[in-house]
Amino acid sequence: MFGLRKSLSSIFKRSRVDEELFESLEESLLLADVGIHASSDLISQLRTVAKKEKIDDGSTLKSALEKLIIKLLQPLEFTNNPLISHSPTNHPEIWLIVGVNGAGKTTSIGKICYALQRQNKKVLLAAGDTFRAAAREQLSEWGRRNQVEVINQTTGDAATVAHDAIGAAIARNVDVLVIDTAGRLATQSHLMEELKKVKRIIQKLIPSAPHHTVLVLDGNTGQNGVSQVKAFHEALDLSSLIITKMDGTAKGGVLCAIAHVLASSHILPRIMAIGIGEGVEQLIPFEADAFAKELVS
Ligand code: GDP
Repeated sequence: MFGLRKSLSSIFKRSRVDEELFESLEESLLLADVGIHASSDLISQLRTVAKKEKIDDGSTLKSALEKLIIKLLQPLEFTNNPLISHSPTNHPEIWLIVGVNGAGKTTSIGKICYALQRQNKKVLLAAGDTFRAAAREQLSEWGRRNQVEVINQTTGDAATVAHDAIGAAIARNVDVLVIDTAGRLATQSHLMEELKKVKRIIQKLIPSAPHHTVLVLDGNTGQNGVSQVKAFHEALDLSSLIITKMDGTAKGGVLCAIAHVLASSHILPRIMAIGIGEGVEQLIPFEADAFAKELVS
């Protein structure tokens, strides 16, 4: 689906494990958006393993690469993924969803609600993208179809919406409040300031919240996606990522690039799920093993 499989399978079929093979491998990783630093690190580790274990055939080398990718991605895996099963310790539990316009934020919010409703959770939505009437309408329409109440306002900013939504969530005794936010302002620094303000208001009302701060990222944005993760993480201390549109890409390697830049973060966000289509069920909880397998073999 999002594999490097096609280009890799011809490389691993070569009879000799030599310098030329490692170079082709590195090129394929770069083409799949693994990024320059993660690619060169992976290849250098692979060279070391191949030398140490005297690997001289393609299929053993392929499993060695798969293991290295699992090792890189494993720290980003959720131990208790709330999309699978979920017993919130906070009531209401607050999810703050951020990301640039077009990343798939509204679609992913629908998918998150669906996953939570399947766990019999009472969900409330807040339409915090006060800049785009279309975004509010899209969310409200989704709520109507799925019997989820949506807190919507035509006046006020995202922080006001979040404030009112928390009041409503407490009054209605909901399990989870999911807050949508804006994805575009005049500049990136404006956007980050606006989002920080929303977070401050939430924390003023519920100091332990937001309990999940989720960045929705388009998996096709390549190295620009990596910069987005860094910028949002620096501003908001993300707890999770959702990577969308992985169905339409042969470039799933961007997850490796992200894992590589985040490795030194003091709060390590986890990859909650990947989006593999527009349908409400097409959000797969992320598992490093399965993902690495899909990527290389
Ligand atoms: P937002 O501006 O971030 O709220 O983005 P939307 O949720 O409106 O999504 C933008 C477009 O991407 C829409 O056409 C969605 O149907 C589409 N989309 C979102 N997630 C996925 C996904 O995982 N796979 C595919 N193929 N399309 C997606």
